[in-house]
Amino acid sequence: MSLFRCVKFCCLLMMALVCLGTGLMGSAEAAKHELNYFQYSKYEDAGRQWLRIEIGMTGKQLEFASEVREIKPKQLKLTLQNTENDKLKKDISLDREIAKYMTIRDAGKKAAEIVITLATPVAEHDYRVYTMEPERRAKKPYRLVIEIAEDKLPEAEPQKPYSDTVLPNLAGHHIVIDPGHGGSDSGARGPHGLMEKNVTLAICRDVDEILRANGAQVAMTRYSDVDVYGPMATDRQELQARVDVGLVNPDTELFVSVHCNAFTSPDAHGTGTYYYPHSQRDTAIAQAIQDEMVQATGLRDRGINYARFYVLRNASMPATLVETAFISNYQEEFLLGQEQFRHNMAVAICRGISKYFGAQG
Ligand SMILES: [Zn+2]
Repeated sequence: MSLFRCVKFCCLLMMALVCLGTGLMGSAEAAKHELNYFQYSKYEDAGRQWLRIEIGMTGKQLEFASEVREIKPKQLKLTLQNTENDKLKKDISLDREIAKYMTIRDAGKKAAEIVITLATPVAEHDYRVYTMEPERRAKKPYRLVIEIAEDKLPEAEPQKPYSDTVLPNLAGHHIVIDPGHGGSDSGARGPHGLMEKNVTLAICRDVDEILRANGAQVAMTRYSDVDVYGPMATDRQELQARVDVGLVNPDTELFVSVHCNAFTSPDAHGTGTYYYPHSQRDTAIAQAIQDEMVQATGLRDRGINYARFYVLRNASMPATLVETAFISNYQEEFLLGQEQFRHNMAVAICRGISKYFGAQG
């Protein structure tokens, strides 16, 4: 469409909308996506570089499909329903290490096709596609996000000294460990792109292993990068699904939720632990873990704090929520990305749990 025709069309459309009123305007707009934003960035996660492409648009609830095309070089193809592109360039260069360039083209009736030509082969599990809500402060619209990993196997994890982590008082106890966020909810994101959901899962996997090695019965709310309730759930559904993991087993004695803190100012830093006081046991477990985390990491001690977090209020057993460190702080984001730091944090959480059960007798 030429610029002239476009302008004329827009004017006509505006007049029509004024006449139709706002009720119809909402539904008419909701059905269509106009691409209007593009950005890419790179970040490191679990020892690999990831390319993150954000394509913004008007409207919400985009329907899309993605597939890897096994031609040479490999391509990642996405089909976006009900989408048109007049604003973005048709060919956009990318980082060239993970992906070379992206092409946007029409794909039949009101659909757009995005083809990303990869610099290295990509396996099925090495990319992820999801949508994100607008971020007003960052001036980002509703977006389709495509993340592609570099083609490198993660380095073999260093042999961890689990045999060193021998802890008393854990054998036979039933504990639920809740890695915060996951799946469609990445949680807070660090200035270099580290995602809270990945940090919490890594720490909790360690916690799980150490607790089991010491004879505890452990259930995790999630063992991989998934939503516990399911994608598109409300916050309440998602959080209740986590609480339910504790309720399923009547023997559950403790619920520990692990998170990373975040704040608008990158200066905020330190370790904090939260409780909702159903009984003295809630403050006891919070204090026990807090002391161990501060001692293990040397981070600023923000103490234990009362909070009305859903999982704490609704857990029917003693519960605590750990804010390991601030992912929004440059230094602490760096630490949270380190395998050794996360392991130290996991050991500290387990030590706290061990002390708590020891004191409860
Ligand atoms: Zn969180």
